Amino acid sequence: MAIYGGIEAGGTKFVCAVGSGPQDIRDLVRIPTTTPSETIGLVIDFFSKHKNLSAVGIAAFGPVDLSNSPTWGYITSTPKPGWAFTDLAGLIGRALKVHVGFDTDVNGAGLGEHRWGAAQGLDNFVYLTIGTGIGGGGLINGKLMHGLVHPEMGHVLIPHDKLADPYKGHCPFHSDCFEGLACGPALLERWGQPAEVLPANHPAWALEARYIALALHNYICSFSPQKIILGGGVMEQPKLLPLVRQNVQQLLNGYIHAKAIERDIENYIVPPKLGKQAGVMGAIALAIQAHKIVQ
Ligand code: ADP
Ligand code: ZN
Repeated sequence: MAIYGGIEAGGTKFVCAVGSGPQDIRDLVRIPTTTPSETIGLVIDFFSKHKNLSAVGIAAFGPVDLSNSPTWGYITSTPKPGWAFTDLAGLIGRALKVHVGFDTDVNGAGLGEHRWGAAQGLDNFVYLTIGTGIGGGGLINGKLMHGLVHPEMGHVLIPHDKLADPYKGHCPFHSDCFEGLACGPALLERWGQPAEVLPANHPAWALEARYIALALHNYICSFSPQKIILGGGVMEQPKLLPLVRQNVQQLLNGYIHAKAIERDIENYIVPPKLGKQAGVMGAIALAIQAHKIVQ
């Protein structure tokens, strides 16, 4: 049976796994994201212990270069100190002498959910993470969402009632885009407490649900996804998901005639079935895809 390497390359840690899927993880390590040379060096050391990897998949924080160009596989203009224009896929692929599958963290997680999780059998779905940042990906017509660059669903603009919510927003590029209003650090800045300690009855959650639902309304109208998977640390507040579903139905106001939205929304807007493993399993799924392409 073929064995793969998967790297969930995040802004705070790199999770690396060896295996062939959620039921077959043979080794796993978490490496802090420090400097590119230190972190990538430790990643290479970890995988060097495992011979006969058929391919390695990397699901990376971005923006990343997915185009057919000499800088394919790079992390590009990230504000993360030291990491801008890092040849992530190239350094790892050359050191390990393996084929590399490379995509955004959210496209990777979406591919993992498609192979093993909540999106099995679907050709059109959105995977959204709401954590330190907000990002979205998934499949359209059976293919990972790519384009000019890749989607930046966290940076869509949504209505911001500045009287009801005077908080200016956290995005360094757009201030009050969706991410600027609704990412974890925005909750901390607006309410003075980290999202994980805000109690379930705090008004933060009604506002948060509204912002998430406004963005989902736009994705539903744009891509007509068959399912929406919501991951990321902020979604761990248990009250949030039911509030998001209610707000989506209210905003769409019966316009889109689909049983999934009108009568089965609990199975339409869902958490990742792979849970916290969605990211690293997505990276393994990218490795499997890359291996199939070269075979
Ligand atoms: P990252 O986006 O860095 O990969 P996460 O998806 O874990 O990481 O998201 C981190 C964010 O999630 C932080 O802003 C944190 O405040 C928030 N968070 C973590 N746990 C919870 C929780 N139980 N409830 C609400 N928010 C949480
Ligand atoms: Zn933005």
